[in-house]
Amino acid sequence: MQSRPDVVSPARRGHEQAVLGLLRAHGPLNRGELSRRCGLSRTTLHDTLSGLLATGAVVTAMPDEAPRGRGRPAEKLALNPAVGQALGIDFARRAVHVAAVGVTYEIVGSAGEAHPPGLPWPDRVALAERLVRRLVGGGLWQGVLKGVGVGVVGPLAGARDRTLSGVEALLRERFGGPVLLDNNTRLAALAESTWGAAAGDQDALYLRLSYGVGGGVVAGGVLHRGADGVSGEIGHIPVDPAGKPCECGGTGCLETVASIRAVLDGYRARGGRGDDLPALAAAVEAEDPIALGLLRDVGTEVGRVLAALSNAIGPRVIVIGGELAEIGAPLLEPVQEALDAGAVPISRHRLTLRRATLGEVAGAFGGVALALGESPLLSRYPAAEPEPGRVDSRAGGHGGVPARPRLALTPLSLTPVSRG
Ligand SMILES: [Zn+2]
Repeated sequence: MQSRPDVVSPARRGHEQAVLGLLRAHGPLNRGELSRRCGLSRTTLHDTLSGLLATGAVVTAMPDEAPRGRGRPAEKLALNPAVGQALGIDFARRAVHVAAVGVTYEIVGSAGEAHPPGLPWPDRVALAERLVRRLVGGGLWQGVLKGVGVGVVGPLAGARDRTLSGVEALLRERFGGPVLLDNNTRLAALAESTWGAAAGDQDALYLRLSYGVGGGVVAGGVLHRGADGVSGEIGHIPVDPAGKPCECGGTGCLETVASIRAVLDGYRARGGRGDDLPALAAAVEAEDPIALGLLRDVGTEVGRVLAALSNAIGPRVIVIGGELAEIGAPLLEPVQEALDAGAVPISRHRLTLRRATLGEVAGAFGGVALALGESPLLSRYPAAEPEPGRVDSRAGGHGGVPARPRLALTPLSLTPVSRG
């Protein structure tokens, strides 16, 4: 990340933003075209471009075709393709994942690192910054960064808590671009619906079985957020009135049955031996009847909840992700059976259950999609969480919050580009 001493005047910064915005919108332009479009004087444009070229945010590019018989073609200027355009960060319960896209929206790369549960926020943000730095090296320049989409655990209720506001401010300070926060599991649902297992499906339900249990709903081609951002809190649907207390204050929620910790606790309570997921996976591999019986029961509970949700929402595709889903058939077969038993007859044979394809970096990819803000999936999505007590006077939008423009999604390649 290029740290630039903040000695640039606000006027100069405004000129830089204008030039960068034009290059982002129109692609490479020569000086004459830039001058016509931005309306800056020749001297001001010259100074602005000199500054941008010196920092590496802008590079010179050869024109596609040289017009014949008119001498040397005018040199074109372009955004540096090695500079990160949008970042996604997923602050999961026990890990941080980051992803970045470049100037043509190709994925620059992704990275992640596990950490102990309960790591303080400044350390988690520092870890995210280290990962981003490793990913894009010096190529993250403040004026070029379109935004940072950030996933956090929890529903993000309208009254934003002080911790999250602090995190948001810290991220803005570190990365310099606009910061958009959302529920990290809903962002994973966004990514799976954009590039993963539910890409192209207009009606999809996503469920993640990890240290927490959550999900996301895509209905009619748009990601549903719900009042107070509560949509997708599938983990807090009660399944056992006499069950265990849940973190949310409820009793017997699906999360108390189907989270990684709940499954491992259940395995030991039935006499199994194993403290972590690899141990459970090994027991499944060895056809340990305790492990298989437990996973059958957990899968059945999950399938019942999914059947109830399907009857309410009508998805065509259900995607299951998270580390527990990696166990595969011993968990997913009973899910499918309970789904078949509980779904209304018309959808029973049309509803497809799929494994997620993006893995644990899905939330970070969803953050990138949120930061770019151009997916039709986000067309009814609020542009930003309004600050408590502040009335947003901008017209239009959904629920009083301005809607994002409906633009065609630029196809992204998930193949990392070489960064020579
Ligand atoms: Zn709960």
